[in-house]
Amino acid sequence: MSKLHCRCGNVIRTEEQDLSYAAALVPDRLYNPMADQIFAQIASFAVACKTGTGTAEWTAAKSPYPEVVEELFRYEVLGKAFLENSREVYQCKRCGRIHIETAEPNHFRSFLPESDASSSLY
Ligand SMILES: [Zn+2]
Repeated sequence: MSKLHCRCGNVIRTEEQDLSYAAALVPDRLYNPMADQIFAQIASFAVACKTGTGTAEWTAAKSPYPEVVEELFRYEVLGKAFLENSREVYQCKRCGRIHIETAEPNHFRSFLPESDASSSLY
């Protein structure tokens, strides 16, 4: 999804990184499974490192660019777990409405602040 249409008529861009009006939300019931998923990936990599064998196979199985281990962890391990378990959240800069992604990807429910809708949450 690259744009979100707010009820006030504002079009919210969602395709960029580090947006001042965007956030991510991890539902409580998904937090522990996400942490377990990340820990399992780190633990399996640690085992591959400790044994001295299998790190190349481990990284090759996780990424098309296995030579960049730091990026692999950032995007393929941490990023994948976070993307699979988090929901996107956007605040409309015009009306302050909060748009939270539902369990169905790219579907949002909106909530209008009771007061001070002009202030930014993030
Ligand atoms: Zn709006």
